Amino acid sequence: DLLVVGSANADLVIGVERRPAAGETVLGGDLSTHPGGKGANQAVAAARLGARTALLARVGDDGHGRLLLDSLRSAGVDPSGVLEGGAPTGVALITVDPSGDNSIVVSPGANARLTPADVRAAEGLLRASRVVSAQLEIPLETVVEVVRNLPSGTRFVLNPSPPRSLPAEVLAACDPLIVNEHEARVVLGEAAGADPEDWARGLLAMGPRSVVVTLGAEGALVHDGSGAARVASVKVDAVDTTGAGDAFTAALAWRLGAGAGLARAAGYAARVGAAAVTKAGAQESYPTAEEVGQP
Ligand code: ADP
Repeated sequence: DLLVVGSANADLVIGVERRPAAGETVLGGDLSTHPGGKGANQAVAAARLGARTALLARVGDDGHGRLLLDSLRSAGVDPSGVLEGGAPTGVALITVDPSGDNSIVVSPGANARLTPADVRAAEGLLRASRVVSAQLEIPLETVVEVVRNLPSGTRFVLNPSPPRSLPAEVLAACDPLIVNEHEARVVLGEAAGADPEDWARGLLAMGPRSVVVTLGAEGALVHDGSGAARVASVKVDAVDTTGAGDAFTAALAWRLGAGAGLARAAGYAARVGAAAVTKAGAQESYPTAEEVGQP
């Protein structure tokens, strides 16, 4: 089974002619509210593909929390690890102008209250998992606690987003560390080289057992410690890339847990990521197993 540990947010989106400057008020179109957050996105993506998936997360005791729980349940995610209360549900306030440029304010809310103690209390979910997938929209100390409480034989997958420098203890647990170009550069810091293979080698030198670099429309690059391999992308008409990385990571984690090798799992994940960019939204855009075809 796959256990995702991460964030759950309500994305509140308003289209505007022009994003407001300081002190300015602008009128926008109708508000649309979407379930999001990297943790919830990953869990929904995996469950839609047919993976047995649970999510350890925290939402508020409020309408946004219920929206997220509904989305998780209708995708087939086990919501028993979704804790309620402590702060309002995390929110992303997003204004988008006609050219597609946006301004975003994130209130982490309940995500910031997912604690190491919550991880210890989720021992049963951890024990039932073959793979645990985390991101960084929750406190880093919570991710550290996940790594410390991994059952032996359970694989750990991390997408360090939003990116920051990582403790050696977390890096050493990653198999793989999954980064896009921006995340690779931040995690590497000064040591970032010129191309994806350099990034993969540089990241491996920091401790992970394997590395995956996602390259948008260019596919991905995997490095298992002994050699690098390119993963071809699937040609699609991109409509909205929101949540593509989350779908990719979820699919990869699931297939690794099912015993697939890194390159093969990434090939499948690239098909899932490509399908996710052909529709608007994040969770609303995720494909089913039938739409993607054989793993
Ligand atoms: P992130 O959303 O984290 O920046 P990417 O943009 O690299 O991540 O997308 C993750 C994966 O989704 C890519 O490795 C690729 O397989 C797939 N993907 C993303 N954008 C496209 C695209 N325009 N065409 C085809 N596949 C895509």
